[in-house]
Amino acid sequence: MSVKIPRGTQDILPGQSEKWQYIEAIAKDVCRRYHYKEIRTPIFEHTELFKRGVGDTTDIVQKEMYTFEDRGERSLTLRPEGTAAVVRSFVENKMFGHPDQPVKMFYTGPMFRYERPQSGRYRQFVQFGVEAIGSEDPAIDAEVIALVMDIYKSAGLKKLNLVINSLGDAESRNAHREALIAHFEPRIMEFCSDCQTRLAQNPLRILDCKKDRDHELMATAPSILDYLNEESKAYFSKVTGYLDALNISYTIDPKLVRGLDYYNHTAFEVMSEAEGFGAITTLCGGGRYNGLVKDLGGPDSPGIGFAFSIERFIAAMEAERIEWQVDKGLDCYIVALGEEAKDRSVALVHQLRTAGLSADRDYQDRKMKAQLKASDRQNARFTAILGEDELAENRITVKDMAEGSQENVTLQELANYVKTKLEAN
Ligand code: AMP
Repeated sequence: MSVKIPRGTQDILPGQSEKWQYIEAIAKDVCRRYHYKEIRTPIFEHTELFKRGVGDTTDIVQKEMYTFEDRGERSLTLRPEGTAAVVRSFVENKMFGHPDQPVKMFYTGPMFRYERPQSGRYRQFVQFGVEAIGSEDPAIDAEVIALVMDIYKSAGLKKLNLVINSLGDAESRNAHREALIAHFEPRIMEFCSDCQTRLAQNPLRILDCKKDRDHELMATAPSILDYLNEESKAYFSKVTGYLDALNISYTIDPKLVRGLDYYNHTAFEVMSEAEGFGAITTLCGGGRYNGLVKDLGGPDSPGIGFAFSIERFIAAMEAERIEWQVDKGLDCYIVALGEEAKDRSVALVHQLRTAGLSADRDYQDRKMKAQLKASDRQNARFTAILGEDELAENRITVKDMAEGSQENVTLQELANYVKTKLEAN
C-alpha cells in the first residue's frame, strides 16, 4: 500500500510553487516599502502560549490544535496562527525596550489547524502576516490596513471589499457585553450548545456563530457602535479619517467582531467579491490587540496586525483571472550531439550558470529532435546547438527562439553573448 498525503494538506508542485513565491515576493517588497522587517519564530511552541495568546474559549484552542507531547513530556503545539508567537518573541527579546516603537514585523510560513477541509480551507496553509507592536497611534492602524491593501493591489486584485469595525476600549466592550447578555439570555435555549456556553464566557462570539447565523435575534442584536464611549469613537473616526485621506474605500460592519478579550478598537477583514470565488470569501483578518502583550507577560504595549493565507490569495487571483507573471522559462538550453559535445556541454552549462543565467541540458542521451523539443517545452529563450562540426571549430550555434534568428559564436563567448542579448531586450 502506498502512503498518501494527509487530509487537508497539499503538495505544492514545481510549476505551482512559483505562485507562492510570487505572492510572497510582492508582500515582502510592500513590507520593505512600509519598513516592516521579517521575524521567524518556531513552527511549534509550548501549548500554553496558544491557550493564553489565542484564548482558551476559541475554536482554535478547543478543537483545532495539533498538540503533542515531546520525548521530554512537554506539551507542544504546531502553531495555528502567528500573532501569539510574535508577541512572545517581542516580550522574550525585550523588544519593548527598542527606542523606535512600534516594532514593525512581518512573518510568513505554514500554520496548522485541525479544521474540516473544504475549498479554501486546509489543515496546513501558509500565512503572511504583519504585526506593529508598541504604538496606539490610529495612524498605525491606517498604515497596517494600507499595507495589506497595497499587497493586494500590487498583485493586481481589484474585486475586494475592506470591511472595518471598532470594538472600542475595555469600557465600551463591557457595556456592549452586558447589552448582548440581556438581548440573548431570555431565548438562549433556542441557540446551539456552543452559543449557550458563549453567553457566559464571551457573548460577543455568538455574533460569529455559523449555525445560528439566521436566528431572528442576530439581526436585532445590539451594535457595538452604539456602545462606544467618546474616546473609542474618536479613535475610530481618526482611523477612518486617515483611510479616507489615503483614498482607501471601506465598508463599516458593526457585526464584524473578534471574540477574544484582548482585541479592541480596530477590527478589519478583506473579502473577495470575485464571481465564483467560493463560499469562504475572507481573504484577510486583522485587528488591534492592546491587551495581548501584557497577557503574555510583557508591559502594557499595544499592538495591531493582520494575516492572510497565500492559498486564498491565489484563489482570488484565479477567480479574477489575473495572469501570473511567473514562468519566464530558461535563458538557454544546450543541445549537444555526440559523445564529445555532451562531455563539453557539462562545462558550458556551468559557464552559463556562473554568469548568472538559467541554463540546462539533456541528461537522457536523447536525439537532436527530442532535445530541441525539450528546449521548446522549457520555454528556453536561446537554444545553443553543439555538434561535431561546431566543436571542431570551438564554436556553437545559438538560436534566438523569440526572434527566430541564429548566430555562430565561440564557446568562450557563449555566456556573454546570451547575457548581452537578454539585456538588450
Ligand atoms: P485567522 O487567523 O483565523 O484570522 O485567519 C486569517 C486568514 O488566514 C484568513 O482570512 C484566511 O485568509 C487564512 N486562513 C485561516 N484559516 C485558514 C485555513 N484553514 N486554510 C486556508 N486559509 C486560512
